[in-house]
Amino acid sequence: MTQSSEPLFNRLALIGMGLIGGSIARAARAQNAVRSIIATARSAATRKRVAELGLADQVTETNAAAVEGADLVIVCIPVGACGAVAKDIGPHLAPGAIVSDVGSVKGSVIRDMAPHLPANVHFVPAHPVAGTENSGPDAGFAELFVNRWCILTPPPGTDASAVEKLKTFWSRLGANVETMSAEHHDLVLGITSHLPHLIAYTIVGTADELSEVTRSEVLKFSAGGFRDFTRIAASDPTMWRDVFLANKDAVLEMLGRFNEDLSALTRAMRSGDGQTLFDHFTRTRAIRRGIVEIGQDSAAPDFGRAHPSLPAEPLPRPYSADTE
Ligand code: NAP
Repeated sequence: MTQSSEPLFNRLALIGMGLIGGSIARAARAQNAVRSIIATARSAATRKRVAELGLADQVTETNAAAVEGADLVIVCIPVGACGAVAKDIGPHLAPGAIVSDVGSVKGSVIRDMAPHLPANVHFVPAHPVAGTENSGPDAGFAELFVNRWCILTPPPGTDASAVEKLKTFWSRLGANVETMSAEHHDLVLGITSHLPHLIAYTIVGTADELSEVTRSEVLKFSAGGFRDFTRIAASDPTMWRDVFLANKDAVLEMLGRFNEDLSALTRAMRSGDGQTLFDHFTRTRAIRRGIVEIGQDSAAPDFGRAHPSLPAEPLPRPYSADTE
């Protein structure tokens, strides 16, 4: 990535410095997107680590101190904690500030945060659809968002210039930005991200229960498919607990459809209906090819080898590190 021109914001406050907060800090600095970065995290251990890594110009102990005078505030914590943090920062926000988040569910974040934010700030919720199964400030890297989508879900009536400014910020970090309603976001992500995670968490648990008998075989023969499931199922338990609680309706809707389709395939298998299986797999193969064609994954099989540890050089994008 190359350094771009003038900073877009004077002071960026990051609340929560895990994978996403840590990546935003690195990317914003690499791209000269802000003049200064103030960071805070819940635990003293994380704050200490952020300071050691030099991810921010200043690390504050409290959320209130972090947001003082910031013209961009991004809350980078599990979605279930966003309401309490909004309540905490509300009285300390600078007039005209843009307040955003990165939560994987948008309806619940808007419901929980908006009531605590003063009328003189602009609330523009966002979700960078990029991630890995790793957590914490060490896991972040500046290229995480390059060629990935960042979805903005401004509530109706949000100031258009604030939306445009946040859009420019995420573009500067390398993301492709799209705007949609929170409700639509939650439905789309329900099928593309949340349900696949639920399936991965389930299948790895099922295999683990079997493993009393066959533990060595499960590990030994865990070729691509299962190994990829274990990578997804290693994602942060707090984050994903919150996602399923917060996006319950959409995920249950998708799960209902999934169960119906699974029953249809089960029936085809049981009755020896090879044509139905073949037709289904042909259709899904075309979907996979479509994803590769639009640049959201590489065509090369990966079988769990690609590892999203901090790349020394920007990786050619896209690469297959996402769990989102
Ligand atoms: P992470 O690496 O686990 O970091 C989470 C951060 O939130 C840490 O700084 C943690 O503080 C803080 N935190 C946790 N619980 C908190 C609470 N109750 N109150 C205040 N702070 C709290 O998580 P992440 O992957 O960066 O995810 C952060 C957000 O990004 C989530 O909303 C998630 O849905 C969204 N997101 C994640 C991904 C992904 O793939 N990981 C992708 C896109 C969006 P301590 O370190 O002090 O405990």
